[in-house]
Amino acid sequence: MSIDFDVHHGNGTQEAFCGDETVFYFSSHQAFAYPGTGVESDHGTGKGLGYTANHPVMPDSGDREMLEIYTEDLPEAVQRFAPDIILVSAGYDLHESDPLAQLHVTTGGIRHIVREILRSAAVPFVFFLEGGYDVDALGANVRVTPEEMLEE
Ligand SMILES: [Zn+2]
Repeated sequence: MSIDFDVHHGNGTQEAFCGDETVFYFSSHQAFAYPGTGVESDHGTGKGLGYTANHPVMPDSGDREMLEIYTEDLPEAVQRFAPDIILVSAGYDLHESDPLAQLHVTTGGIRHIVREILRSAAVPFVFFLEGGYDVDALGANVRVTPEEMLEE
């Protein structure tokens, strides 16, 4: 399973796995931001239909909208798919200080998202660092991830 909280839609990941029922792709991203893909009605194709979930979030949304996705939609998807491993596209450009995005998620919100991901299944996790363009904020936000891993 691939979970992607980078503020940009993972169009390459989706394209690689949209027809594959063995990889569930779950993404949250800022609606209308680059690359413009990832509409909610994209659920996969062929055998992969139902194994892609896109959650575009409107600009200026903030923590509450993002946390609804990770506390309500994510656990349901994980339970249904029952993954063996979860690979996370950890892009910290959803943060409020990021110059390339307008989602306004706080560091506390990112911590909560990471916590919900880690609690969603008792499987191995791999977090891949993706975006994050305010360098000072990036350091603080990346740090949240191993801190939460050590809590679990
Ligand atoms: Zn990004």
